[in-house]
Amino acid sequence: MPQAKLTDRFGRTVNYVRLSVTDRCDFRCVYCMAEDMTFLPRQQVLTLEEIARLARNFVALGTEKIRLTGGEPLVRKDILELVREVGTYGLRDFAMTTNGSQLPTMAEKLRKAGLHRLNISLDSLDSEKFRSITRTGNLQQVLDGIDAARDAGFRGIKLNTVVMKGRNDEEIPELIEFARRKQVDISFIEEMPLGEISEHDRGLALCTSEEVRDIIRQRHELIPVAKDSGGPARYYQMPDSDVRVGFISPHSHNFCSTCNRVRVTVEGRLLLCLGNEHSVDLRRVLRGNPVTDDKLQQAIIDAMDLKPERHHFSTNGDVQILRFMNMTGG
Ligand code: SAM
Repeated sequence: MPQAKLTDRFGRTVNYVRLSVTDRCDFRCVYCMAEDMTFLPRQQVLTLEEIARLARNFVALGTEKIRLTGGEPLVRKDILELVREVGTYGLRDFAMTTNGSQLPTMAEKLRKAGLHRLNISLDSLDSEKFRSITRTGNLQQVLDGIDAARDAGFRGIKLNTVVMKGRNDEEIPELIEFARRKQVDISFIEEMPLGEISEHDRGLALCTSEEVRDIIRQRHELIPVAKDSGGPARYYQMPDSDVRVGFISPHSHNFCSTCNRVRVTVEGRLLLCLGNEHSVDLRRVLRGNPVTDDKLQQAIIDAMDLKPERHHFSTNGDVQILRFMNMTGG
């Protein structure tokens, strides 16, 4: 294992990088994007070679975990080449977050290309509700995608559900039964104020993790999992199942003190915090002349000084961060 070399001003070691491989998506989830999005022109987007170079240099600086995300990573052309390349870097954990729509044809290829784990977003099991939340999504395709991921032999599959009051909060028990049946973990996420949306009022729609736990407890005992994953999710288990139930609660549970991660947008902006705008332009370094790995690594090391101590999300639905989640890399 390489020596950890990325440490910020607060003594936190950064060993987890989320790389966004596209801002584009085949869905338009109501909490994530506006309906009519403009996407980045090609020259502003990092090439797959540039993304791989970034990944390699992060690994040289002690990164042990990489997650590919977006936008929808599986709509990026030739994504398998990137997965194959990053798969050779000896990561302890190599994961992808996807909406699942392309998994029926891609799951097995991803597994063979060296991906370890998949997080699949699933906000509803009702096809009409699913369509209204994703605006363009087809539920059956995603359900088939989940089965394809299981058939391909992926072990650590986790579902992600953003819970919105009056939208899908009534489906929490069903989603839990679905996860138990499929033997996959599930995390419930509080909606974050990223990007300006007009489709719903985020303040009114906020369903806190405490409320979600109360709903689940009407049917199942939830026992906190002792081992801390080191991430923002807090995990629980039900006495009669191996399935873990996670809660990502940016509003009600501050997880900043153990934050070990940074993000890189597909434009090459290194984001030091999900809930702050602090960033460094790595594309400029990548496209500088001459560009050397030393220069790139120094820029990444220097950026650690900008990592803020914590984020402050308010619960009144006000937008605090202008970039949408598809730009941030969820
Ligand atoms: N397209 C992929 C997907 O659907 O999972 C990956 C990108 S998506 C931006 C990553 C995750 O961010 C998804 O689980 C999505 O539900 C979540 N997400 C997007 N916008 C969010 C918001 N405003 N608050 C909380 N979670 C959000």
